[in-house]
Amino acid sequence: MKTGLVYDPAYLNHDTGRFPEKADRVSYSYSVLADAGMLERVVDIKPRPATVEEIGLVHQQEYIDRIRDFSDHGGGVLAYDSAGSGATFDTALLSAGGVLTALDAVMDKKIETAFALVRPPGHHALPGKSMGFCFFNNVAICARYAAKKYGLDRILIVDWDEHHGNGIEDVFYAEDSVLYFSVHRYGSFPDTGSARLVGEGRGEGYNINVPLPRKSNDDDYEYVFQRILLPVADAYKPELVLVAAGMDAHVRDPIGQMKMSGSGYGRLAAAVVEIAGRHCDGSTIFVLEGGYNARAVAESVLAVVNTLVDWDIKKVCPASQDPAPARRAVRKVVDGVKQVHRRFWPFL
Ligand SMILES: [Zn+2]
Repeated sequence: MKTGLVYDPAYLNHDTGRFPEKADRVSYSYSVLADAGMLERVVDIKPRPATVEEIGLVHQQEYIDRIRDFSDHGGGVLAYDSAGSGATFDTALLSAGGVLTALDAVMDKKIETAFALVRPPGHHALPGKSMGFCFFNNVAICARYAAKKYGLDRILIVDWDEHHGNGIEDVFYAEDSVLYFSVHRYGSFPDTGSARLVGEGRGEGYNINVPLPRKSNDDDYEYVFQRILLPVADAYKPELVLVAAGMDAHVRDPIGQMKMSGSGYGRLAAAVVEIAGRHCDGSTIFVLEGGYNARAVAESVLAVVNTLVDWDIKKVCPASQDPAPARRAVRKVVDGVKQVHRRFWPFL
């Protein structure tokens, strides 16, 4: 399995000051991948900056200009939860562009899967507003770009960041060409992501929110994937899978309140590439979102990349029927989500 790794030291240039979205999140992960011998096992993907036109596939021109001005004036605190520096605009273009570079490599069949070790993150960014350390919505921009450039009309986005990706949901809420699946902590920032929000118009049924209780662990997440994501994805038959791969549900995350482990993220990655293996030759791009303990992020990134390089499309098998031993409160949430979505996905 050929796996690409997107990384550039220029990702360190964006400086958030006292905010937890710091450069060592990606630099430390990169050094851990190097120490583990992973750089010899992946295809190095040199990111290009996204163009303003590409950012405009999701964001309003006025907002893009505002972020450029903010950066040109040396940055500072943009909102209560977003801060930046003189390098923020360029780094954000390179962050989104890194994901687009990975997509082009996947579509050109140079690689099957990729991990984009990029920052700033993107999944909270709205078309006209930065939020939660995010400026440009990397994953949403990539989905729009994939639709426009390659004509894809069934893209699955899996968002396993501890927080709900309100920005991605907002962009695709009324569309069926993108299926947005988010598993997140109930009540966490930005307090969106209710299971009752299923999409609207032709997007009805294509927005799936699974709000889990605090302290959810590897087995809980795997159970959610087995019981909801896998059957829905197999019915949807995606042409591309994008993963908003935040690592802040890790038990050692200073902001998060979940109990995932690094190897647990490896298991989730395995479940996702199995979906892609069955439907789209494995085409999957993992994009770093949150995660604020550099060591925990690195451990999680290593586990995911390890899963990707070891994975063999020839060994793809049907989804496991053995349910992970999820906690009772999690099984209850899953039953509730299934009930809400049964009218769109009758097998749930
Ligand atoms: Zn997060």
